[in-house]
Amino acid sequence: MTDVDVAVIGGGPGGLAAAIVASNAGLRVAILEERATLGGQIYKRMGKGFHVDAQDARMGSDYNKGAKLIAAAESSGANIMTDCTVISVDSHTIMYSLAGEHVKEMSAAKVIVSAGAADRAVSFPGWTLPGVITAGGAQSLAKSQRISFGSRVVFAGSGPLALAFPAQLAHLGINVISLLEAGPAPRAGDLWKVAKAYRGNLHLLRDAAKYRAQIFKHRIDVNYRRIVVRAEGHERVERVIHAAVDSDWNPIPGTEKSIEADALCLGYGFVPSIETLRLFGCEFTVNEDLGGPCVVIDEECRTTAPDVWAVGDGAGVEGVYVAMSQGKIAALSAIHELRPNGTEGITVREINEGIARERKKITQKRALVGATKRMYKFGEGAYRLATPDTIICRCESVTLDNIDLAMQFGADTNSIKAMTRAGMGLCQGRNCQRQIVHRIHENAGIPVDQIALSTPRFPLRPVTLGSVADASVESDKFFTPVEEAQS
Ligand SMILES: Cc1cc2nc3c(=O)[nH]c(=O)nc-3n(C[C@H](O)[C@H](O)[C@H](O)COP(=O)(O)OP(=O)(O)OC[C@H]3O[C@@H](n4cnc5c(N)ncnc54)[C@H](O)[C@@H]3O)c2cc1C
Repeated sequence: MTDVDVAVIGGGPGGLAAAIVASNAGLRVAILEERATLGGQIYKRMGKGFHVDAQDARMGSDYNKGAKLIAAAESSGANIMTDCTVISVDSHTIMYSLAGEHVKEMSAAKVIVSAGAADRAVSFPGWTLPGVITAGGAQSLAKSQRISFGSRVVFAGSGPLALAFPAQLAHLGINVISLLEAGPAPRAGDLWKVAKAYRGNLHLLRDAAKYRAQIFKHRIDVNYRRIVVRAEGHERVERVIHAAVDSDWNPIPGTEKSIEADALCLGYGFVPSIETLRLFGCEFTVNEDLGGPCVVIDEECRTTAPDVWAVGDGAGVEGVYVAMSQGKIAALSAIHELRPNGTEGITVREINEGIARERKKITQKRALVGATKRMYKFGEGAYRLATPDTIICRCESVTLDNIDLAMQFGADTNSIKAMTRAGMGLCQGRNCQRQIVHRIHENAGIPVDQIALSTPRFPLRPVTLGSVADASVESDKFFTPVEEAQS
């Protein structure tokens, strides 16, 4: 007997969609979410102690959609555990820290991981200056606390969210003066392809048109095929230097220009948060279009680890609607495995129909992404902007020079980590690992998909010593018993 039938790690759209389906079918479900509120990235709520007038139009339609999804999860009967950080996993057991208290364990028959994604960090001279901020960080400040991080903001990045983010920030009252898109300007052929992929995507096309109108209304200066090569300033960023790029985002010499700004927001896409899935021992592959290292999943989002499903951005960055469809598919698939004859809440036929319906939606969403591929393809030149003294691992202040030196003794992420501490800090390599992988690729000629990321370690997130040092939480799954350690 396990504590729950289904444990859902992550309370974003993917996790919530999964939990609602599983709980409504009568299963015992728990949602473990490290933030204080549900909603994940896109449906992020205001922080504790902040409140917003729900009628405020500036909150945008996403805020209201998130409110509905959260309300559905709350009324589904699922056990919602916020402030609950998963710090380790082992087969069917999840170790978590609730509100920073002593860690506890939960056993689950099935686990659905929907851990989301993180901003793709790109290192260049000056990227650690105060005033340089990732798009996700900027959005968090704006969405959850209504804090503006500058008075003259340059937004640099690529992809559909490089259109959405500056528009959203400007709409919230932030003065975005310039957008530097590393990809090419849309051509008539691109727009035609996008138009042909309209089925099931009209709402997304409407959103894109709305964002373009907002960019126009706020007079944001849009520049295509430009990348930030340097941020300059004393106490904080004062100037953003940008250059024209080729199709792989390599800067073209002699094309540099400068913009006076006190904030630079970077949105070069996202990378899946895979550390929980790696601890589960799942198999991985590399798909740069989905953000880099991606867990291998089947048609029903099953990973190669027994009883573990992966959905949403954490399984490959494909946006909120794919995340929710995958969440529903994973839940239906788990219900089917646990209750092969269905439940009082759902029949086997409904399960199969539900899976087919969500698969169709995913196919439609992927058709739209396919239509934008030429415009939004990530260029590896972004990983070649660092100079020898550029900091790559900002948690441990490790420069590119340090990494190159360590690489002489071993061209793999674990030896570089051991020698330089790159990846050992607070973010556990989320910011520097991809950059290091690409450096190994450049220096040693090893294909990117053959370079393993460094081994993930317990705890997945920082926890207080007190929360793990208590004898009551000792478990031979996660900790070595004292006698064994001494022998
Ligand atoms: C920074 C950022 C901003 C974005 N903004 C937009 C936007 O404005 N518009 C848009 O269309 N799309 C946006 N996206 C993309 C969109 O949000 C995602 O596609 C969508 O939220 C994916 O849902 P998800 O459930 O897969 O992941 P998420 O929404 O990221 O949810 C994952 C959840 O898992 C939780 N989690 C992760 N690890 C643990 C752990 N160890 N323990 C407990 N909980 C954990 C996280 O706290 C998070 O709440 C954004 C993505 C990111 C990364």
